[in-house]
Amino acid sequence: KTKNPGEHEFHQAVDKVLASVQPLIDRHPEYRQEAVLKRITEPEKVFMFSVPWVDDQGQVQMNRGFRVGMNSAIGPYVGGLRFHPSVTLSIMKFLAFEQVFKNALTTMNMGGACGGSDFNPKGKSDREVMRFCQSFMAELHRHIGPDKDILTADIGVGTREIGYLFGMYKKIHSEFAGILTGKSLTLGGSLIRPEATGYGLAYFAGQMLKTQNQTLEGKTCLISGSGNVAQHAAEKLIEMGAKVLTLSDSSGYIFDEEGIDAGKLDYIKRLKNFRRGRIKEYVNKYSEALYVEQDTTLDHQPMWDIAADCAFPCATQNELNARDAQHLLKNKVTLVCEGADMPCEPEAMECFLDAKILYAPGKAANAGGVAVSALEMAQNSMRLSWPRQEVDDRLKTIMKNIHQTCLEAAEEHGFPGNYVAGANIAGFVKVVDAMLDQGVI
Ligand code: NDP
Repeated sequence: KTKNPGEHEFHQAVDKVLASVQPLIDRHPEYRQEAVLKRITEPEKVFMFSVPWVDDQGQVQMNRGFRVGMNSAIGPYVGGLRFHPSVTLSIMKFLAFEQVFKNALTTMNMGGACGGSDFNPKGKSDREVMRFCQSFMAELHRHIGPDKDILTADIGVGTREIGYLFGMYKKIHSEFAGILTGKSLTLGGSLIRPEATGYGLAYFAGQMLKTQNQTLEGKTCLISGSGNVAQHAAEKLIEMGAKVLTLSDSSGYIFDEEGIDAGKLDYIKRLKNFRRGRIKEYVNKYSEALYVEQDTTLDHQPMWDIAADCAFPCATQNELNARDAQHLLKNKVTLVCEGADMPCEPEAMECFLDAKILYAPGKAANAGGVAVSALEMAQNSMRLSWPRQEVDDRLKTIMKNIHQTCLEAAEEHGFPGNYVAGANIAGFVKVVDAMLDQGVI
C-alpha cells in the first residue's frame, strides 16, 4: 500500500483475494516461494498516454489513456476498455487484477488486462467519439495484437466505439486482425457477445438457486444500472420467469411494481442505446412506475430497500454499501449476484457471507462476457461465424462449469457454499501454477 498510495480500489480488490487465498498459502509452501504474491499483485505492464482530440467547435481537448497488462501467465492479455470520467490508474489496476481471476475461471487461455480513459462519451457527437477513438488507438496500437493483448467492452464502450477503434487499428497496420471483441457483425463480431455478460449472469443465478432446489420462476429482482449488463440480465431473467422491479442510471432509479416486462424493456433499450436518454423518461411512458432521483446526501441507496428475492448490482464498483446490504437482508433477499465488477463494498460482502445467503462475486457471475469474447476470437481465427444458438449453448455450459468450479474449490478448501472464496482460490491456483511452471521471468 505504501508503494501504491491512494489506489483505494486496487487495494480493495487485492485485499479480498489475499484474504481468500491465505489459508491455501499457509498449507502450500510452494505458493510462499518465488514471491508469487508480489508478482501476481504487480502489473507486468502499465502504459499511460495523452489522447488529444478536436471537438466539434474546433477546440483541442485532452484526455488520459491507460492500458494495464496485469498477468499473462495463462495466455495473451484480454480485458475491457472503460471510457468514463471517473477512470484513474487505481480503477484500471483493480479491473485488470479482477480480470486475471475471471479469465482463469472461464477455463480459456487468457491473461488479465484493462484499459480506458477519463474521456466521457456522454453528450459527445458521433464525430467527436470517432476522433477521440482514433487518437486513442494512434498510441495504443503499438502495445496490442491478436496474440499479445485483446480489448473488450466495458462502461462507456459499445459497438460504436469498438468500430472506430478497430477502423483505426486496421488503417495503421493494414490488417484485419482480431484485436478487439464486441465488434459489430459486419466486422466479424460474434452473435450473443453484446448479450453475454447479462445472459451469463442470469444463467449463473439459475445455477445458484438450483443448489437449493429453486428456480428463477416468480422471483422478484432488483437490478441496478441500465447499460449493457443490466439490460441483458433483465432480458434473460424475464425469459426465465423472474419479475424485474427496478433499473437505474447515475441520475436515479425506476421502480415498477407490476414488473418490467419484455415490451417495457424494449422501450428502455431504445431509450438508452439509440436516443442515449435518461431512465427517468420511463415514467412518462409507464405512469404506474415510480422514479426516484439519486440523493447523494444519503448514506444508502433507497433502491436496495425495496423488498425482493434477488438483487443484481450491474452498474459500477462500490455501488452497494453495508447499509444497503442490511436493508436487503432485512427484506429477506435470498440471492445477490454481481453483474458489475466489485459493486459491493467489503463490509457489504461480509454481511452477505455472514448471513449465508447465496452471494456470487462479479469475477465468477459476470464472466460470460469475456468467455464469449474468447469465442469471438476463436471464430475470427477460423474465419467462421457460429449460429446464435451454438454460442448461447456454449455460454450456458461455461457458466455452469464456472459455478461448479467455484463450489468445488470452496468445498475442498473448507468454505462450503462460499462463492467468493471458491472463485478466488480456483482462479489463483490456475494462474500461480502457470507462473511457477514458467520460472521467474
Ligand atoms: P454501460 O456503460 O453499458 O452501463 C453502465 C450503467 O451503470 C449505466 O446505466 C450507468 O448510468 C450506470 N453507472 C455507471 N457509473 C455509475 C455511477 N458512478 N453511479 C451510478 N450508476 C452508474 O456499462 P456495462 O453495462 O458494460 O458495465 C456495467 C458493469 O459491468 C461495470 O462494472 C463493468 O465493469 C461490468 N462488466 C461489463 C462487461 C461487459 O461485457 N460490458 C463484462 C464484465 C463486467 P449512466 O448512463 O447514467 O452513466
